[in-house]
Amino acid sequence: MLTSIKGRVAVVTGASRGIGRGIAEIFARHGARVVVAARGREGAEAVAAAINAAGGEAVGLPCDVARPEEALRLAAAAEQHFGGIDILCANAGIFPAAKLTSMTPEQWDEVLNTNLKGSFLAVSACLPALRRSPHGRIVLTSSITGPITGYAGWSHYGASKAGQLGFMRTAAIELAPHGITVNAVLPGNIATEGLAANGEAYIAEMAAAIPLRRLGSVADIAYAALFLASDEAAFITGQTLVVDGGQTLPEA
Ligand code: NAP
Repeated sequence: MLTSIKGRVAVVTGASRGIGRGIAEIFARHGARVVVAARGREGAEAVAAAINAAGGEAVGLPCDVARPEEALRLAAAAEQHFGGIDILCANAGIFPAAKLTSMTPEQWDEVLNTNLKGSFLAVSACLPALRRSPHGRIVLTSSITGPITGYAGWSHYGASKAGQLGFMRTAAIELAPHGITVNAVLPGNIATEGLAANGEAYIAEMAAAIPLRRLGSVADIAYAALFLASDEAAFITGQTLVVDGGQTLPEA
């Protein structure tokens, strides 16, 4: 059993569905007070309502992490609502496909602004509150795609996900004196609404490539994030945890 995160305040970006929702629900089930953030207010509020109905404690707030003023507003609202921030799960991300032969600078910017700059903006907005916490934790949702593998159509996405790790390593050094750890989970293929948009052929191709012979669940990622947010992970910082059912292991 890990030490309880009961009462700790966790801000989860991109939490109206998919992996972020899984993190929010599992953190709440373990006693955290959760800020559910997404661009769509209705989706964020619906997840918070479901958590509250299940006996947890959550609030849904709108936030586009690519916009500095919205990230700052989210952190301020989280502090106002719950009195502080102990854990930030910077999870919001998009993965629209575009091959290099047709990729526009605008498509590149949209992905980098959300996935990479959005991670920086969420971290910097929550930083003052995290510094006041005795157990500050930052968990980034990166990916196997970019840091470890490539996939046609996702050069911008891969760059954003590898970029998160470069950001993480220096952030971990800078924030260590404040007792804040910064780590990343690297999901493989996880069954989410976003992934489903890639179509059945993609899902079948991925499932066949995973030694454990299934896509991951959002809970698989949430429990990895929960560990990195726990007291037991206090001496782990600047590290990556691959959660991919063995997908990146085979030599051929
Ligand atoms: P998803 O099902 O599409 O959900 C994405 C979530 O992020 C939604 O709540 C969405 O809500 C929110 N979001 C999107 N853009 C946002 C923005 N600019 N600001 C704030 N929230 C935003 O995606 P997912 O599959 O759960 O992926 C979540 C994270 O895991 C991403 O970082 C992704 O790169 C990573 N990942 C996923 C997989 C996978 O197999 N699913 C694998 C590796 C890594 P709104 O649209 O309302 O904003």
